[in-house]
Amino acid sequence: MLEECAAKGERMKLIRCENGHLYDGSIYPVCPHCNDNEKLESYRGRADAQLSDKIREKAEVTREIETVMAAKRLEMNIMNLVPFGILLYVGISSPEFLEPLYGNPVGAGIMTVALGVYGCTCKMAEKMVKIQV
Ligand SMILES: [Zn+2]
Repeated sequence: MLEECAAKGERMKLIRCENGHLYDGSIYPVCPHCNDNEKLESYRGRADAQLSDKIREKAEVTREIETVMAAKRLEMNIMNLVPFGILLYVGISSPEFLEPLYGNPVGAGIMTVALGVYGCTCKMAEKMVKIQV
């Protein structure tokens, strides 16, 4: 019981009004004994409106960021496919350009390094678009 009161006292903000009434400042913006219900309601309504404004604003910003990130994710997916598109295009139109890259140690080494770089950039791009809002 005592502990409960102490815990409540921490959260409460006891205020003494000019007429000597004690009230909880964390619940009432003005003294509930000196002010009628109507006035209290208008104060409470104002506080609620401010809070809902803030929540709405935050949701708006979150939505905006998510939209931008979705666009960037799509961009990343397209950019990830570009190297394969180029390889495919060159391989079909003039396969002799790709011949030196396959079937010999130097070419295979170069392509292996290129694949490694490609993998690293994919990982980096993924990290960039993975922002938690
Ligand atoms: Zn009062």
